[in-house]
Amino acid sequence: MHRLAQSFVLTALAACCGAAFAATPADGVPHGRLPRWAVPESYQLAFKVDPAQQNFSGTTTIKLALQQAADHIWLDGRDLNVGKVTITDASGKQHEGKYVTVDLKAGLARVDFGGVLQPQALTLALDYTAPLNQQLQGLYKVNHAGAPYAMTQMEPVSARFAFPGFDEPDFKTPYDIALTIPSNLVGVANTQQTSEATAGDNWKTLHFARTQPLPTYLVAFAIGPWDVVNGPTIAPDSYRSEPLPLRGIATHGEGHRMQHVLNETPSIIHTLENYYGFGYPFGKLDLLAAPDFSAGAMENPGLVTFRDWFLLLDPQSPTKNVRDSFNVTAHELAHQWTGDTVTLAWWDDLWLNEAFATWMQQKVTMKVHPEYRADLERITAAENAMENDSLVSARKIRQPISGIGDIETAFDSITYRKGAAVLGMFEGYVGEDVFQKGMRAYIQKHKFGNATADDLIGAIATAANQGPAFNQAFDSFLNQAGVPYVQTRLDQQGGKTVLHMSQSRYLPVGSTGNAAQVWGIPVCVRYGTAAGSKTQCEMLDKAEGTMVLADAGTATWVMPNANASGYYRFSMTKPAWMDLTKHVTALNDKEQLAYADSIDAGFRHGELDAGDVLAALKPLAGAKTREVAVAPLNTVAWIYRHEAATDAQRAAIVEWVKKAYLPRMEQLGYQRKTGEADGDSLLRTTLAHSLALDFKIPEVRTALLKQGDAALAKKPDGSLNLGAADPDLLGDALAVAVRERGKPAVDALIAELPRTTDPALRNGMLAGLGAANTPELANEARDFALSKQVKVGEMAAILRGGRDTPAARDALWQWFTVHYDQVLGRTGSFASGFVPRLAGGGGCSTAEADRLDAYFKPRLKDLAGADRGLAQTREQVLLCAALKSKQDPAAILR
Ligand SMILES: [Zn+2]
Repeated sequence: MHRLAQSFVLTALAACCGAAFAATPADGVPHGRLPRWAVPESYQLAFKVDPAQQNFSGTTTIKLALQQAADHIWLDGRDLNVGKVTITDASGKQHEGKYVTVDLKAGLARVDFGGVLQPQALTLALDYTAPLNQQLQGLYKVNHAGAPYAMTQMEPVSARFAFPGFDEPDFKTPYDIALTIPSNLVGVANTQQTSEATAGDNWKTLHFARTQPLPTYLVAFAIGPWDVVNGPTIAPDSYRSEPLPLRGIATHGEGHRMQHVLNETPSIIHTLENYYGFGYPFGKLDLLAAPDFSAGAMENPGLVTFRDWFLLLDPQSPTKNVRDSFNVTAHELAHQWTGDTVTLAWWDDLWLNEAFATWMQQKVTMKVHPEYRADLERITAAENAMENDSLVSARKIRQPISGIGDIETAFDSITYRKGAAVLGMFEGYVGEDVFQKGMRAYIQKHKFGNATADDLIGAIATAANQGPAFNQAFDSFLNQAGVPYVQTRLDQQGGKTVLHMSQSRYLPVGSTGNAAQVWGIPVCVRYGTAAGSKTQCEMLDKAEGTMVLADAGTATWVMPNANASGYYRFSMTKPAWMDLTKHVTALNDKEQLAYADSIDAGFRHGELDAGDVLAALKPLAGAKTREVAVAPLNTVAWIYRHEAATDAQRAAIVEWVKKAYLPRMEQLGYQRKTGEADGDSLLRTTLAHSLALDFKIPEVRTALLKQGDAALAKKPDGSLNLGAADPDLLGDALAVAVRERGKPAVDALIAELPRTTDPALRNGMLAGLGAANTPELANEARDFALSKQVKVGEMAAILRGGRDTPAARDALWQWFTVHYDQVLGRTGSFASGFVPRLAGGGGCSTAEADRLDAYFKPRLKDLAGADRGLAQTREQVLLCAALKSKQDPAAILR
């Protein structure tokens, strides 16, 4: 949608100056945002849907305020065949209107009134038909276990596939939804059903209660042979006087597997209500397990939708699914406040939805399941975002939006993870209670309306009694991309221990970026004293600063990111590194994670070589805390995959890994023990995967192959015995089996997948297929990924695989360029931003970067968001190549 960027200025002018036109606005086509002189006040949405059909029909009735004389208005509508259009004016007179599609791809239309109407209240009714979408957008269709279902996914800009309207988040209005559906099916929507009536032979019409004011992207409903199961009713509390009904919605026959998540939900809701001091306002709560879904989950008020494996749980479920289920549920329910009650005003503030839901989920998890260690999850998630944020092509948290591609690519680790880490950092700076006070005021002030970043920061600053410097510091993280790199140096000056600090932008070897950048960073350091250690904080808002360490005595070591609460990386002189490495066990586990990240950062920045890295990370491998113990694996795997050049070098790394992890792996064993801590189950999964597949440790491979063979053995009914593998290891066991047994294993999985509906078993099989790494087998798996047997939302699981070696990547590239149209045909426009990564991610040479560029550049105009996807993937490939050429593999053997 290249035209969007070009016409945005024009649109902004039309919107701002529309009122100046006396008769009717001679406006240009609003490719950016709709003008504000027609404002919707409520919608009635009536749909007639049979999921077995290819199309549906609907009538959308919008009450709107026309705020200036006009002979037309602009609407969003995509793939809609609009028939009759009726405009009823304030006097009750009806005018026949005309719906004209103006931009097919963006989904923009004009409704002509047939004459000029003066400013007044209008009612606009549009009858239309449209296809049930096949790409998981708008109102879409899925087949599951032979039965068709229809459901919605509107965010960010897909409501226009389902009904014509003002598809932008600050147009919040109430909705009355009615569904006419086959009598034998179940229909659910955002609110409680209020009536049911027959509507001719074999049809019925369901009406639902009027919603709270919502943006279009939060409208939701679903139709099919759903199981509906009751969960525990959520009792009233100080902030909500009515009991809250809770239900689970699942595909036919699966409802009984919803109880686990339903039982977890009341404590999540109460925790959120207590935090915000504001009762859940949407009347009822349904959690729906979607048989196919584009995102992970969606926070529609009253009807939250999830990929099915987050919700369908039983004692055999992978531990990771159980934990993710809680975290994702907490995230979506946090949105009921930040996102649904208070909605972003425009997509450049998507972080107001997503960073807050991510940050709040971690808070809820800390409270309800402290053993899940969400405090560590926030740190590892932030470190993951830092990798992306180190790219010159990284987004800002508040990236200006110049088109639909920018909206769709805003759902990235910067918005979610960097956003949550930045919130956590400033929460730490002002104190949790003060921050909460600000959040409560923000929710009260903007409830059922919209808000911007300034509203939020203002609320926090007021609660914290902070001046403009605070706002500037916060803004410095929102409005510029990049990770601050804080360099420290310890010094003795006149009897005082002084820490010198300087900041710049962290840029890895090979980066073309400019490092001269300044943030307002709340820097907290821990330092060793005779009596143990102390922490001290200061705001570093200039390129350089100093901190006099109180009572430092003979301080010899400094940890420059105490409690890992800061969103920054750090570096120091090599002797200081060595001092810190010596005292790494004196750090808490959060700091040990930050230490591991900074070793990785130092390696990619060129200060540390492979030998330094292997030495510095060694003390962490034996840590008791799982997250710390596995923190070195990615860096070491990079060295193994890209740097080790000789058998001796590879053998040295394998020895390092074996020494560090094999005893722990063997102690854990390869089967979940009754009653074991779920952290042990998760550690088993991580270690087994990494040791068997990344480092190819024979002992671990043998154990997994045994399980893979058992899972691939046929049961008497001819189906595979997938339950023979440990549920936490199924995917990796099948992956090893595919690598060792080749074609028979791939064929068996391809034959079995269509016969299996269980999402966890399907995920295991997809992981197996994704592991195929000879060109023939990988291509067989990829061809299969394009078939209807693989759900649209599952495709990437197979296509992500097969990129470990240059030869495997070449084969993937060949396949991808031949099947490009089919891949896009299945995923649709929503995934465009991710397509370059799917094709060329994991590359590590300039040749790979060049071919990616040459292929995608001419195609960008047809792929919204792919320009950013291309820039980031290409940059990652080039950085990998630069780091590889800088390294001396001999350092591995030092
Ligand atoms: Zn979210």
